[in-house]
Amino acid sequence: MNDDRAHGPIDKLFTRRVGPEYCFFCAQPIHAKTSTEEHVIPRWVQQRFNLWNKRLTLLNGTTINYKHLTVPCCIDCNTQRLQPIESKLSAATLVGSAAVRDIGRESLFVWLGKIVYGLLYKQTQLPAKRALADSPPIMSARGILDFQKDIYFLQFARGEVRFPNGLPASIFVFETQAGDHPDLQWDYCDSIPTLVVGVKVGKVGIVAVLRDGGAQQVCEKEYMELSPHPLHPLQFRELFAQIVYRSRLYNRVPKYMIVLEPCHVVIRIPDGTGGPIFDQAHAEDYAKILSEYTGIPLNDLFRPPDGVHTWLRDAAGIPVYLPLREYRFLPRRLRPKVGS
Ligand SMILES: [Zn+2]
Repeated sequence: MNDDRAHGPIDKLFTRRVGPEYCFFCAQPIHAKTSTEEHVIPRWVQQRFNLWNKRLTLLNGTTINYKHLTVPCCIDCNTQRLQPIESKLSAATLVGSAAVRDIGRESLFVWLGKIVYGLLYKQTQLPAKRALADSPPIMSARGILDFQKDIYFLQFARGEVRFPNGLPASIFVFETQAGDHPDLQWDYCDSIPTLVVGVKVGKVGIVAVLRDGGAQQVCEKEYMELSPHPLHPLQFRELFAQIVYRSRLYNRVPKYMIVLEPCHVVIRIPDGTGGPIFDQAHAEDYAKILSEYTGIPLNDLFRPPDGVHTWLRDAAGIPVYLPLREYRFLPRRLRPKVGS
């Protein structure tokens, strides 16, 4: 990305301060009359799956109720830019994966990006040690600056950025089994180092690799072939682990050129360096990530030198339909976790 970015309100993102007096999304100052509280995990999700008093684990291992996960947001971002996307997601997730795909990858990119960025931003507002009056926050204001480019791209929702030759992210939508219990219907998982985020909303699972310049999108066919049946929550976690692992094997840094028109036009520069864009995979490294995202011990998943358990295929390599009545222990093991 070049440095010529001083252009109207978007410039505030790069000189931003954090706090209740700034919109978490567009960074513009807000005051009492223009301030709203944006629920990081949308209200309709909390309502549908009764999440209000469930707890989410933060970067420092503490937990917080979903209902307290709010960030300061200006009226314009909240009601005009983000709410329309929420309305689309709320309706489409009730219909199914095809309806969610029809929303368009751009909206899914903004939606998942907003959630993970909101979670990170919230942690600039929470003390790391709640018992200490002068505790530093879980994430420093400086730490959130590492995500400047990511929030800059999300300004797509404000019409201030566009991507004429493709999103800077890879997005995948899967059909999942809904289940008859709220704990089986909702799932959230993320990987902060490569900014991968996944949610399971009823019968739809969505995963975004937010920082790879769309590189992993070429693997979509492979993932779809791995998931011809509606995925069990455990299978969704397995696919998520595969996507996270591949994101860590990605060996390029996406480059962009920005053209300043009335809005910023972000053009991805083709990679001309040649050679594989993903490093060689190693079974044990992947197994560790699978263990992390399933809560199942590594020893139960990995058989040296290269055997890794899968719930997606049987021994003959045929895709498996895993009924929900199996692995009912799952919700306790798969507590939603932030900052893995
Ligand atoms: Zn705003």
